[in-house]
Amino acid sequence: MTADILRKKFLDFFKAKKHKVVESDSLVPKDDPTVLFTPAGMNQFKREFLGFTSGFNRAATSQRCLRTDDLDKVGKTPSHHTFFEMLGNFSFGDYFKKESIAWAWEFLTKELKIDKERLWVSVYKDDEEAYGIWKDEVGLPDRKIVKLGDKENFWPSEAKTKGPNGPCGPCSEIFFDQGKDVGCKREECDPSCNCPRFTEVWNLVFTQYNRKEDGTLTPLPKKNIDTGMGLERLAAVMQGKENNFETELFAPLIREIIFEVKNDNPDNRPLVYAIADHIRAIVFSIYDGVLPSNEARGYVVRKLIRRSVLYLRSMKTEKPYLYKLVPVVAEIMRAYYPELKARQENIAEIVLAEEKNFIATMNSSESLFRERFQGFIKKQDPEEVGIATFQLYDTYGIPLELTLAWLDKNNISFSRQTFNNELSRQKERSKSQSAMKGDVFSSPDMQYRGIICKFSGYECFSSKAKIIKIIKDNKEVKKLSKGEDAIIILDKTVFYPEGGGQVGDTGELTKGKNAFAVLDTKKSGKAILHTGKMKSGSLKKGDLILASVNYERRMDIARNHTATHLLQAALRQVLGKHVQQQGSLVTAEKLRFDFTHFKDISDEQTERIEETVNDFILNNHKVEVKQKALALAKKAGALAFFGEKYDSKVRVVSVGGVSSELCGGTHLKASGEIGIFKIIQEGSIASGVRRIEAVCGNAAYKVIKAQEQCLRSICMSLNVPQDRLCEEIDKRITRMKHLEKQLDTQTLNALSDSLEELIQGAEVLREIKLITKVIDSLDMNLLRKNIDLIKSKTKSSIIALGSVVGGRAMLVMGLTPDLVVKGLDAGAMIKDIAQIIGGSGGGRADFAQAGGSKPENFNQAFEKLRDIIWKI
Ligand SMILES: [Zn+2]
Ligand SMILES: [Zn+2]
Repeated sequence: MTADILRKKFLDFFKAKKHKVVESDSLVPKDDPTVLFTPAGMNQFKREFLGFTSGFNRAATSQRCLRTDDLDKVGKTPSHHTFFEMLGNFSFGDYFKKESIAWAWEFLTKELKIDKERLWVSVYKDDEEAYGIWKDEVGLPDRKIVKLGDKENFWPSEAKTKGPNGPCGPCSEIFFDQGKDVGCKREECDPSCNCPRFTEVWNLVFTQYNRKEDGTLTPLPKKNIDTGMGLERLAAVMQGKENNFETELFAPLIREIIFEVKNDNPDNRPLVYAIADHIRAIVFSIYDGVLPSNEARGYVVRKLIRRSVLYLRSMKTEKPYLYKLVPVVAEIMRAYYPELKARQENIAEIVLAEEKNFIATMNSSESLFRERFQGFIKKQDPEEVGIATFQLYDTYGIPLELTLAWLDKNNISFSRQTFNNELSRQKERSKSQSAMKGDVFSSPDMQYRGIICKFSGYECFSSKAKIIKIIKDNKEVKKLSKGEDAIIILDKTVFYPEGGGQVGDTGELTKGKNAFAVLDTKKSGKAILHTGKMKSGSLKKGDLILASVNYERRMDIARNHTATHLLQAALRQVLGKHVQQQGSLVTAEKLRFDFTHFKDISDEQTERIEETVNDFILNNHKVEVKQKALALAKKAGALAFFGEKYDSKVRVVSVGGVSSELCGGTHLKASGEIGIFKIIQEGSIASGVRRIEAVCGNAAYKVIKAQEQCLRSICMSLNVPQDRLCEEIDKRITRMKHLEKQLDTQTLNALSDSLEELIQGAEVLREIKLITKVIDSLDMNLLRKNIDLIKSKTKSSIIALGSVVGGRAMLVMGLTPDLVVKGLDAGAMIKDIAQIIGGSGGGRADFAQAGGSKPENFNQAFEKLRDIIWKI
């Protein structure tokens, strides 16, 4: 039975048991600072577990998850993964132990027809209720129900004694017996044994307690069910494989990798497995909007790519290869993630860019090592070397072995102790970064739970509503008076709450002369919060008020929002279909759009993008909004932003035939209302990600107006009409260059006489003529010309000329060719002298220059030069 069938059977089974089948949440959990990546199925339901309403109290999912705690085990064991899918069914204060156990048993034995004899279970040692259900209702014999302790069968593990506070409870696990011939082969082997005979298939968590600050457990008023079953492991069990990597979820990847490395040595298997694992994690992270970078999440992706590249290198594959596996992952996951196909080229490009980068770093490691460690050849300092080695490892991903080999070759000693210390400190850091911060369930906005507030402001901008809650300083109050800051919640509202990149509305809530100014609108769960200040009079809970959105501002926002959709369409037309949204911000003032693109954007392209959007505007396409099923909308090609989580019913906003996107924002009625669209900035913000900022309507008009005024004032100063401006500027530049040249020649001519004098007055040290002088306000170019002139008129000379420009010292040195032949080097001499004038310098044997901050030290510098010459 394939994983695709198992996934479907599971979801269908629980759908028939009245569960809402919810789409997998993104790997990047929204509004959850406690985790870096989604680690389990229950995470997207934290609010429901706490009693927030979402319209259903039973759910089932196949959740994509990512964990990196056991990274070093991946590939070496049959069932450790970074990326995996977790099947789960959930009850929010609805059914409990009895149904949960009965249905799990029914699914495994009836639906999947697993032999009852091969299933064992464990329960928490004090959970008599679960024990009784397994024994009396399911009919399992005593010997097959194993009692386990706080560590194994309580969730969160050991929460009873160690915390965290919040919902917790016992669990019950279901195991598959691989048979007597597997594992320790002891007669008394059971699921408590650490050997591989018993494979844990399903974990049922009975969340029935609330752990309080003082460590006591009190029964929850509404008990929850949270279950999790690894799809990969279930597939292996169902296919009679002892190793997850032998299932069809991995087999095509493993075949490809082995074919590429042309080496099926069993010793390499763990590496091949690890690569097959990592590429799935890489593909789905990028799919969910995480690009390789040095920041927390991005660094995980970067690390997984680098590890894979190193594994490939150790199997003699040194060219970028990983990216070729992206379509293989897309093909394997096609049934549940059909949209992966459409993004595979884009994802592959991101992987390829990162691979190339890392391979280039590896290939240039020689020069990196030289730069970093040169100083330690003479001056041994093992601890410093240990730290530097760690930095190379941490920042550039250079493997330790590679660095050690180079250090060894160059006789540089290295302190492994220091390296290990740095490494464990880094591990601590990343652990504290990725570990759950605070309680598993902590929600700053508990006071909004249970509130559902409908947004009704797509079509209208003001409506009557009732105040149902007032929050001031995090506490509920009955009444607000003039001058007080607060959050007001209404039964329904026309105010758009910040979301999908669009800022929240502002406006007023009024009742006669009593007015509350709304300064921002945000969402918390299903509640919509109006944040602001009482401007006049007072308002109280239960009041009927008139809610009015600031219309002008809302229209400016709508212009920028509709234009953002048109911009994305234009980018895909001009640059290509690989353009994917990475983020956006829509305010009343401007719009910002981040997208994937791997090359620079030329001025011509930027112009074409702007023109294309303005064409869409001129054609005055109608904006249409339709509610559709998510799957249908995606099938019809509506663009979705992968950082966003969508409901099963989605809102599709289309503009004529040019743009169609899933979007919950507020829009215009037709594209013509945008007026004008003007790009004000374009640039790169991360590797492979670019940002465009633009303005619309009145703001665009103002930008154009300001440019026009600037142009007019230039014309005025130059005293030319606009149509001759470019010509006039060209003319003036040519004339300026000509004048500069003339000035130089005159200055040189004037100097020429004094140069003769300089040469005559040269001092002679050890048969070398030394010519030194500080000349006022000569630039580098003229100093250089002077040196050349003197060199052409004399022999066996060292010339050092100084000048002070803008308070800074400039020094140039020249050597006549006969001295260079003798092995003298101006570049070397100037290094010591430059320090005296407070700077640094360098150059060739016949010419060198330096700059510094101490022009008062020229005489000392020349003195130093005399010293140097005496020592030659
Ligand atoms: Zn055993
Ligand atoms: Zn939108």
